[in-house]
Amino acid sequence: MALRTSNRIEQIVQSEIRAMSIECEKVKGINLAQGVCDTEVPLPVRAGAKNAIDEGINSYTRFDGIDELRIAISKKMKAYNGITADPETEIVVSSGSTGSFYCACLALLNPGDEVILFEPYYGYHVNTLLAAETVPVFVKLQPPQWSFDPKDLEKIISPRTKGILINTPANPSGKVFSRKELEFIADFAVRHDLFVFTDEIYEYFLYDGHKHISPASLPGMAERTITISGVSKTFSITGWRIGYSISDAKWAKMIGYINDLVYVCAPAPLQMGVAKGLLELKMEYYNELCLEYAVKRDKICSSLIKAGLSPYKPQGAYYVLADISNVPGKTSKEKAMFILSKTGVACVPDTAFFHKKIKPGLVRFCYAKKDHELDEACKRLEKLKSFI
Ligand code: PLP
Repeated sequence: MALRTSNRIEQIVQSEIRAMSIECEKVKGINLAQGVCDTEVPLPVRAGAKNAIDEGINSYTRFDGIDELRIAISKKMKAYNGITADPETEIVVSSGSTGSFYCACLALLNPGDEVILFEPYYGYHVNTLLAAETVPVFVKLQPPQWSFDPKDLEKIISPRTKGILINTPANPSGKVFSRKELEFIADFAVRHDLFVFTDEIYEYFLYDGHKHISPASLPGMAERTITISGVSKTFSITGWRIGYSISDAKWAKMIGYINDLVYVCAPAPLQMGVAKGLLELKMEYYNELCLEYAVKRDKICSSLIKAGLSPYKPQGAYYVLADISNVPGKTSKEKAMFILSKTGVACVPDTAFFHKKIKPGLVRFCYAKKDHELDEACKRLEKLKSFI
């Protein structure tokens, strides 16, 4: 048989995150590899979805989402992000922020276009760009602050560069981009006439007084910026698949066409649940979320230190990268497997977040876990010290 898969798929590698989750399952370990948050879903969100099913909101919706949800998102964007978005024309609800980014790439980028992204990166960003047959190009973030050298951006620009991707707060580094950094990127994007794609899924997970700034809220940036976010993390509903993009009406229309083509619409009753959550939950809910996650962050960082690893304390999101130089093993994968074998706790090796081998090795732990499970994981991790 001469049949073969597309060239496109050959470039896309299966995530190391999934591979580590499988290894974790084999030993019935605690999975701190995958970014699944299993904290409680807020009541208005759950009740809103259940009532919607009972009230018969079960059909296809408008391709860009139900009115209630687009209006709720528009209000939240204004209040929290400082972005004005017309709910009729500038918001497209999609199948998670993952779906939103995919639709934006298909609508706005051509095969061969280059898109700059910061490394360490979130693997889905790279794979989505590859699936759209575009070319990811990388700018390094340097620990401990995960700062970038502006000169690196200038070095990497080419006539084919069409966009730059920001993820703030970032997975896996926990970096929260500062206003100064975003202003530099904004100026860079204007000078080189680039789209700015910004994934803000962790916008509410902020620690130590760090503030979330949406690039689209900076002067003159709204027109070229595609803001992507969702509620998977904020409401602990990763399986519901509700996310959205905000962009100028001329881009949103095209993103909407692709969204219609690929997903038709996001799940109708779940859109209603999310709309209720956005409208009914007050700022206290989000503030408490930050406090709750800050405790989890401090807990895991302190255990990682006791374990003999060196964590980079995250400023936001809910992952921590740790230096594993002193863990036995030739590669980061071997070291992650060593940690799993000695502690029963799974983490992700750096190969999931870097396009080239890095030194010293890093692994990522996700701390979006219920307290009792995180406590047990921390206790086990601390035992690593006796093996290294
Ligand atoms: N963006 C980032 C940076 C993520 O880390 C994740 C999940 O881990 C997602 C997007 C996925 O979000 P969604 O569930 O809205 O597709």
